[in-house]
Amino acid sequence: MIIAANFKTNHTRASTRAYIEKLNTFVTKTNSSDSVLVFPPSSALDSFDLEDNLEVGVQNAYPVEKGSFTGEIGLEQIEEFNLQTILIGHSERRHVLGESQDEVAKKYDFFKAKNFKIVYCIGEPKEVREEGIEAVIAYNFAQLEGIDIDYENLIIAYEPVWAIGTGLTATNEQIEETLALLKQKLKAPLLYGGSVKVANTKEILEIPNCEGVLVGTASWDVDAFSEMVEIAAKL
Ligand code: PEP
Repeated sequence: MIIAANFKTNHTRASTRAYIEKLNTFVTKTNSSDSVLVFPPSSALDSFDLEDNLEVGVQNAYPVEKGSFTGEIGLEQIEEFNLQTILIGHSERRHVLGESQDEVAKKYDFFKAKNFKIVYCIGEPKEVREEGIEAVIAYNFAQLEGIDIDYENLIIAYEPVWAIGTGLTATNEQIEETLALLKQKLKAPLLYGGSVKVANTKEILEIPNCEGVLVGTASWDVDAFSEMVEIAAKL
């Protein structure tokens, strides 16, 4: 299983280090063999001495080695810390920050060429969900345009936009139906994301075709996220 924490614009450099060190101790203690990923803000990227199954990744980067792209980080800044994992296509980047499918695909190609592990997010907005499952699947597949879905280091996170940071989780039936249809086309592991918390982690991880969770808000507390790691380890 894959259990991932997205800090978004939360945590400082100091609190990120304290969080990751505590989480690493917890992973050692629980003997978890699941893949645990943490995406801190870029200001908190650093080198960490971690268990093999605990990795730090970047929430975003510009598809360039280095250059004149004010406010962005590129490969040079990531490689300083030997990081090899990136989140691409998150709904906040698509819908709040206006990243187009074309830009997302360029970023994907660049980091794929550098052999990064890519957690690639897809997910429909509320009005599409209300149109029914066919519209949902068509919308999610359109977010795979220009993406090599056979890339061996790809992980897909299905995150309905209406469930992200809203406290609204998709029902288990909605998750199961959507993941089953996505799985017909995708070989990559599928994660669910959208208001996952300690209380619903187990039931979500037990849904067929669900190979993990991507957690935002509830992951910002290291004890809560550690509990999720423990729940996964016991399954
Ligand atoms: C996310 O940011 O990927 C996410 C799923 O957020 P939240 O858990 O807060 O809904």
